[in-house]
Amino acid sequence: MSLYQKIRQQSREFSQRTLDRHLRLGVTGLSGSGKTAFITSLVQQLTHGDLPAHLPFFAVVREKRYLGGQVNQQQRLSVPRFPVEQNLQHLQQQPPVWPPSTRGWSQLSLTLRYKAATGLRARLQSRSELALNIVDYPGEWLLDLPLLNMDYQQWCEFSWRLFRQPHRQAAANDFEQHLRLLNLQDGSELALQHSTEQYKALLQQYHDTPGAYLNQPGRLLVPGELAGAPMLQLFPLLPEQAGEHSALAKKLEQHYKSYCKNVIEPFYQQHFARLDRQIILVDCLSALNHGYAAMQELQQALQLILKSFHYGPSSLLTRLFKPQISKVLFAASKSDHATPEQHKALSLLLQQLLHQPLKLSHYQSAITEVMAIAAIRASTSGYVQADGLAQPCIRGETLGQKSVTYFPGEVPATIPSAEFFNQHKFEFLALQPISWAEHEPLPHVRMDHVLQFMLGDKME
Ligand code: GDP
Repeated sequence: MSLYQKIRQQSREFSQRTLDRHLRLGVTGLSGSGKTAFITSLVQQLTHGDLPAHLPFFAVVREKRYLGGQVNQQQRLSVPRFPVEQNLQHLQQQPPVWPPSTRGWSQLSLTLRYKAATGLRARLQSRSELALNIVDYPGEWLLDLPLLNMDYQQWCEFSWRLFRQPHRQAAANDFEQHLRLLNLQDGSELALQHSTEQYKALLQQYHDTPGAYLNQPGRLLVPGELAGAPMLQLFPLLPEQAGEHSALAKKLEQHYKSYCKNVIEPFYQQHFARLDRQIILVDCLSALNHGYAAMQELQQALQLILKSFHYGPSSLLTRLFKPQISKVLFAASKSDHATPEQHKALSLLLQQLLHQPLKLSHYQSAITEVMAIAAIRASTSGYVQADGLAQPCIRGETLGQKSVTYFPGEVPATIPSAEFFNQHKFEFLALQPISWAEHEPLPHVRMDHVLQFMLGDKME
C-alpha cells in the first residue's frame, strides 16, 4: 500500500470513528448453537436482502434509505477471515447442505451505505456509511471466565462435581481410573501431555454428548491459535489428589495460573473489550430434546456466560478492562423447528433459562433483548386439517432427505420438571436447508428484528 493510500485509509478510519460510524458486533454461542449460519445469513441479508418485504422491521430498509452493503475484501492477514463465500456455496449445492461450524475466532468487515433520516448528517450528506466489524468466537471461551475466580483446587472440585452428574458419570469412569493410577510425583512433560490427551478425549466425548455444554478449559476443545502451547497441558486431578502438593499437582497449578493469565485475560482485553454489541445464540430446542439434565446444564452454562456481561463495580471484568458493550441480544436460534405460534413460548423459556437476570441492576449498563429467531429458515409453516380443526404444522426435509409435514409439539414457556421429562419426549427435528438461488435473500425468521435491534439506531 502506498503512503498516500495509507494516509487515506487512516483518515477514513479516523473520520468513521469520530462520526461514530464504526461498530464491532460480537457473535457467540456454544458449539452448534448456530453462529456460522447466523453470520452467513446476517451478511447475506445486508448485501442482498434490501427488499422491504423481506426485512420489514429493519427501519432503514423499510424507509427505503438503505443503499446496500459490501464485504470488505481487504483484511489484515493476521486476522482469520469468516468464510462467508464458502458458506454460501454450501447452501447453493443441490441438495443444499449446512456450512461447517465455527472452530475458533474470525472476523469479517462490511461497509453499509444508507441515507440518514434526520440530523446534520441527513442535511449534509447524500450518503452515510457504517463500518461494521463482525467478530465470531466460540461461547466455550466465555465459560472460562469463572476460572479467574477459582484456584486450581477449586476448579478440580467444580469439575468433578460436574462429572458426577448422571448424564456425565459413565463417560468419566475411564479418566477417573487413569488418574487413580497416576504417579503423582511425576510432573514430567511426558506425563502431563499423556494425561492431557486423555482429558481432551473425555472433553471431546462430552462435546459430542447431547446436553453436556459446560466443558472447561474452553481452549482445550477449541484451541484456536494456541494449539500445542504448554499451558494447554491442563486437566483436573481428583479433588483429593489436587490438595496433595505433589510434583504433578504443582505443575498443573502453574499451568492453570498461566492459562488464566495468558489465555483468559488477554482474550477479554484484546477481543471482548473492543466489542460494542453482542449477540448470544442459544439452541433451547435441542436441549429440550435431550432432557432434564441437558436443560439444567444449559442453564448453568448460560449463568456462567452471563458473568461476562456483569459490569458491576465489583465485577471480575471491571478489574481487567472497561467494558463498553451497550447492547446484548440473547436469541433462541432455529425457531423454525417449531411452529410460529410457539415462538413466544420459546423466548419466554430462554428468559427463564437466563433467570431473568436481565432485569437486575448490574446489567443496566447494557440494553438487553431476548427473541426467537431462525437465521436460515429450513421449514415453511402452514395448517393441516385434523378432526375438522386447522392444526399448525411445518414442512421441511430431514437431514436424511425425507420430506415431512408435521406438528413438532408445543414449546414449554417454563423449564419442565424432571417428572415431565420422564413422561414426555420432545422431538424438534433437525432439517436440511431449503433450496436457495444465489442473489435471492435467504429465508429467515426475525432477522429484521435482530438487525433493527443491533444496527437500527446507528443508521437513523
Ligand atoms: P455453530 O457451531 O455455532 O457455528 O453452529 P452452526 O451455525 O454450524 O449450526 C449448527 C447446526 O444447526 C447447522 O448445521 C444446522 O443443522 C443447524 N442450524 C443453524 N442455524 C439454523 C437455522 O436458522 N435453522 C435451522 N433449521 N437449523 C439451523
